[in-house]
Amino acid sequence: MILLNTCHIREKAAEKVYSELGRMKGLKVAKPDLKIGVAGCVAQAEGGEIMRRQPLVDLVVGPQSYHRLPELEAKAREGGKALDTDFPEEDKFDHLAARPKAKRAPSAFLTVQEGCDKFCAFCVVPYTRGAEVSRPADRVLREARDLVDRGVREITLLGQNVNAYHGQAPEGGEWGLARLIRELATVEGLERLRFTTSHPNDMEDDLIAAHGDCAKLMPYLHLPVQSGSDRILKAMNRKHTAESYIALIDRLRAVRPDLLLSGDFIVGFPGETDEDFEATLDLVRRVGYGQAYSFKYSSRPGTPAADRAQVDPDVATERLARLQALLTEQQRSAQQAMVGRETSVLFEKLGRKPGQLVGKSEHLHAVHADAEPEMIGKVVPVRIVESAANSLRAVVLQA
Ligand code: SAH
Ligand code: SF4
Repeated sequence: MILLNTCHIREKAAEKVYSELGRMKGLKVAKPDLKIGVAGCVAQAEGGEIMRRQPLVDLVVGPQSYHRLPELEAKAREGGKALDTDFPEEDKFDHLAARPKAKRAPSAFLTVQEGCDKFCAFCVVPYTRGAEVSRPADRVLREARDLVDRGVREITLLGQNVNAYHGQAPEGGEWGLARLIRELATVEGLERLRFTTSHPNDMEDDLIAAHGDCAKLMPYLHLPVQSGSDRILKAMNRKHTAESYIALIDRLRAVRPDLLLSGDFIVGFPGETDEDFEATLDLVRRVGYGQAYSFKYSSRPGTPAADRAQVDPDVATERLARLQALLTEQQRSAQQAMVGRETSVLFEKLGRKPGQLVGKSEHLHAVHADAEPEMIGKVVPVRIVESAANSLRAVVLQA
């Protein structure tokens, strides 16, 4: 069986699924028993339509039904078409818990939250992933300890709207993300914590404070803003302004001056004028990002912005190029600013050159250094000595 895991966030990602499926036709002719499945958010959004458009697909499964894969797979094997895009009552994580105890790589993701209630006017997530749900804190803690037992040293807490986390607390009531992070920081052997992706309106006081006083929380924050124009932010239903975002960044930097900021931007949102776009460039200049993702607006069926008048595609292309040039320049200078600094690296694997290991710095830069393979899985003090296009070079310091 081949199972494609798919993304529906922009049209290009969704269309790729069909071209990928088209390429599998030959495989199925050569191997008639081969089963082909589509999982993820395209499966969720398009459901049975995928099988109509591409009849070689045997199985379609949405993100909330992965625990039902064994039954679906059996049905497909028997020659049937298996489809499940429910939002089941039961918690898939309960059913996925009995995982093998195999050793894991040093850095792992741990889902703590799924779904989104924000309904930004451009975004399919609230429809494909459903309403916000947080996993109970004791489950998260148990899973984190299990990951550490299997060799994990760094955990990135994952959620579509992770800082809206409000999981059931072990002693009753609820914990927010900051409380969860503080508890996770007490897990022995777990050395680094990160979380992604956050919405500016859910950056509460205790979470901001944690960036200053929780040593295991790394100095890197992905905090998408999408646009620097208040008019566009309003049309996007973001419920924050450029100023409120910058005020938030100021508060974060007050507690953690070397915090490296990352963001997401959309250019060419319906109604975006040159002036609106200039406001985005202004915001980028004021914030100074260490890293960022930027996209051309992609109209998504069923979202509020889908029917609005579109910006000329050539104009959007030109704006994206200008924004990306600025962001690249900021990324370079953030990397350059690391040169000469002492920091730490969690080595993850062998590098491309003999004798070299690669890992991540505290600020999530890819770092390579000469070091013994035994250092994989260890957090090691280093000095950054050089900045390349997308990585840093370091020398290991004596601990
Ligand atoms: N929950 C996160 C991000 C979810 S999607 C947040 O609120 O930031 C990841 C990124 O994809 C978004 O931040 C946005 O920049 C981009 N994106 C989402 N929908 C898009 C669309 N229709 N067109 C272009 N980019 C989009
Ligand atoms: Fe999409 Fe993020 Fe907005 Fe939710 S908060 S609708 S996931 S962009």
